[in-house]
Amino acid sequence: MPDSTKILLSEADIPQAWYNIQPDLPGPLPPVIHPGTLQPIGPDDLAPLFPMALIAQEVSQERWIEIPEPVRDIYRLWRPTPLFRARRLERYLDTPAHLYYKYEGVSPAGSHKPNTAVAQAFYNKEEGVKALTTETGAGQWGSSLAMACNFFGLGCEVFMVKVSYEQKPYRRSMMQTWGATVYPSPSTQTQAGRRVLAEHPDSPGSLGIAISEAVEAAATSGGVKKYSLGSVLNHVLLHQTVIGQEVMKQMELAGEYPDILIGCVGGGSNFGGFTLPFVREKLVNGRPTRIIAVEPTAAPSLTKGKYVYDFGDTGKMTPLIKMYTLGSSFIPAPIHAGGLRYHGMAPIVCYLYDLGVIEAVAVPQNPVFEAAVTFARCEGIMPAPEPSHAIRVAIDEALKCKETGEKKVIVFHVCGHGHFDMAAYDAYFAGKLPDYEYPAEEVEKALADLPAVG
Ligand SMILES: *Cc1c(COP(=O)(O)O)cnc(C)c1O
Repeated sequence: MPDSTKILLSEADIPQAWYNIQPDLPGPLPPVIHPGTLQPIGPDDLAPLFPMALIAQEVSQERWIEIPEPVRDIYRLWRPTPLFRARRLERYLDTPAHLYYKYEGVSPAGSHKPNTAVAQAFYNKEEGVKALTTETGAGQWGSSLAMACNFFGLGCEVFMVKVSYEQKPYRRSMMQTWGATVYPSPSTQTQAGRRVLAEHPDSPGSLGIAISEAVEAAATSGGVKKYSLGSVLNHVLLHQTVIGQEVMKQMELAGEYPDILIGCVGGGSNFGGFTLPFVREKLVNGRPTRIIAVEPTAAPSLTKGKYVYDFGDTGKMTPLIKMYTLGSSFIPAPIHAGGLRYHGMAPIVCYLYDLGVIEAVAVPQNPVFEAAVTFARCEGIMPAPEPSHAIRVAIDEALKCKETGEKKVIVFHVCGHGHFDMAAYDAYFAGKLPDYEYPAEEVEKALADLPAVG
């Protein structure tokens, strides 16, 4: 298919197994630690929150984990997703580079997130759980989990950051259409929410508060409800590897192998899913690909953070994870790429970055939106603000090739569409988008507050 624009696979090509990178890493991942005892946590510590199958996947050393047929059957609704050759963008940039992009915006929820939501709902259903609780910011994750729970007949309770609940009503409507109950957080449903409301009745909420509410709702339900997380954890990256496995096959059909892979990182799940099969080729078979993670300058965990143990949430309720962090009390500026406003990063991504297998770069939001508009005008698709970070760096790399005359193969990940983000485009066109510089002082303050782990 060397001349195609869309490189398509058939349903039979949907991967049969998820790829687990853990056995292919040069050493074990650092253990997750209990904040009270400072000892590695065991399955029992996690059992009130997650089903056993997912707890097992979190630490599994099996290289391939079979995808259950009911999960693959739901994947068929939108998988395999297309890989495009960005021919119009190449012509516009006048670059000798070959540009390709994988597009996950074709899922019903509009991003990569259903790949793990469906898997998580399946395992919870299998173990007799009745409902899942979760938090959501702008609503990408909440809507994906709502859809997945709907397919498996599970209840779904979403604690949605109040300011988004009020300002971004359409993702909330999607969740309700798929049958979820959506609470503006802080809510009166939980002690955590009531405590915040007592002190700040007008609190706009935050992701940290919403996580505390969702965790409490699951932990106090006597096993009826469990909690679900849409990024960061090993099992989430595992489920997302369907993306990279498809890209591998699609690039074979295109008759090329990537010189450069580029994805955006918030918690690291779309990037991990897209790149880990290629990381394996690099680690195990020595195939040299540059693999670039792109983050916002407003939340530069990899490029400016410290590789230490920290809490996963602002409320300091989670176990301690070794990751590149800006400090769990650091609250990133309100950039429009809401999915990238996280203080930490997936442990697998951090491990690979520390090892030097992947690179990272941070970009401010105005150049990101400039790239988004260029991309939309060339390729038609409106990208979400998050993947537009990857598009920015892909364009920059293509322009470098123009200077040097190199014919590099650049593959980037467009992990979601921007149909619910058009207000951000409006702000860009009106010249009202601030470029937040690296907030050195606040990060320093938050890092001074790190938990003491030996
Ligand atoms: C949630 C989300 C992200 C950030 O999460 P990752 O785990 O880093 O992938 C990025 N892009 C989109 C479209 C999202 O919905």
